[in-house]
Amino acid sequence: MMRGGYNLAMHCPFCGDEDTRVIDSRLVANGEQVRRRRVCQSCQERFTTYEGAEVAMPRIIKSNGAREPFSEDKLRSGLTRALEKRPVSFETLESVIGNIRRRVRMSGEREVAAGVIGEAVMKELKRIDQVAYVRFASVYRDFQDINEFQKEIARLKTERGGR
Ligand SMILES: [Zn+2]
Repeated sequence: MMRGGYNLAMHCPFCGDEDTRVIDSRLVANGEQVRRRRVCQSCQERFTTYEGAEVAMPRIIKSNGAREPFSEDKLRSGLTRALEKRPVSFETLESVIGNIRRRVRMSGEREVAAGVIGEAVMKELKRIDQVAYVRFASVYRDFQDINEFQKEIARLKTERGGR
């Protein structure tokens, strides 16, 4: 059964476009859900939707054990804060969000630890902007003093030198 409330799942998770085409459908969960492979007509990315009882993104397990839905808004605001006044374009930010979402979705898990997302964010930031990376890491890893900053920066320099 299709339910109206799940129309959001039909948006392309990579670019947000609504123009998607179904390339494969099958019943899962004893016929209570329809699993669909879709291709976005706009960016050509493929993705899967579970229509009926579930949304496709796993739930997030917070450090205190509570579960919550994956929030793209939260992810975006964390990234935006780290990238404030950095020379990183809107397009790059959106592609980072897409990469993280893809990684979470590809895990295939129904629930994912919040730490997995934090690590994915750091990996992406390290690649696009090292200042933003250190900013994010300082909050995420709760740096207590300047030594921890220095250690992280030394680590970055070593990594870059080793490439
Ligand atoms: Zn798309």
